[in-house]
Amino acid sequence: MRRAVLTDFDGTITRSDVAEQILDEFAPNGWWDIEALHRQRKIGTRDSLARQFALVHASPEDLLAFVDRAAEIDETFHGFAAFCASEDVRLEIVSEGLDFYVRHLLAKWRIDLPVRTNRTTFEGGRVSIAYPWSDPTCTLCGTCKLRRLFELRVEGFRVAYVGDGHSDLCPAIEADLVFAKAELADLCREEDIAFMPFERFSDVQRGLSAWR
Ligand SMILES: [Mg+2]
Repeated sequence: MRRAVLTDFDGTITRSDVAEQILDEFAPNGWWDIEALHRQRKIGTRDSLARQFALVHASPEDLLAFVDRAAEIDETFHGFAAFCASEDVRLEIVSEGLDFYVRHLLAKWRIDLPVRTNRTTFEGGRVSIAYPWSDPTCTLCGTCKLRRLFELRVEGFRVAYVGDGHSDLCPAIEADLVFAKAELADLCREEDIAFMPFERFSDVQRGLSAWR
C-alpha cells in the first residue's frame, strides 16, 4: 500500500507560527483573547482567523517584508521532502494559515508540493479570507485537513499526519500514524491518541523509515 504524508505548515514546516507572528506585530493585543476562545474550542478556526485578521491593517508588501524577516524553516525539511520523493511517499501540505505568506515562503524556499490553504484578499488595507478547501458539512475549520486525508485513503494510501496545533486534531484522530509536538502532542495525550513525538522533520524521517 502506498504511503502519504500530510503536514501542517505553521509551526511544523516553519519553526514558529507565522500567522501568530503577524498578529503579534500588526494586530492590537485583543487578538489573543480570540485565540484563547479558539484554544478552548469555543469557536472554530475559521471564525478565529476571520476575527483576528480583521484587526490587521497593513499592506501585503509590509506583511511580506515582515514575514521574510520573521519566518524560519525547519532546516531538515528539504532533506525530508527529498526522502519522500525517493521513497515514493506522497507529501502534501494542508494549512489553516493564509495563502499570501504560505505560497510566498514555499516559493522562496523552493518547495514545490501540493498545498491546500485559505485564500486571502486585500482591499483598502484590510484582509479578508475565503475558504476554498473547507468541508461543506462543517463550519469550524477553513481548510479541512481531514477531508484530504479521507480522499487519499480512498485513493488507496495509508496516511501519516505531522502537526503541532489545534487545527491538527481532526486529522490526527483519523491518521494511520501521527507525529505530534507542542499543543497537538498535549491534545493527543488528552484524547488518548497514539503519536510519535518529533522536533524536526529529521525525526519524522526516522519514524517513517520504520513504517512500511
Ligand atoms: Mg501549526
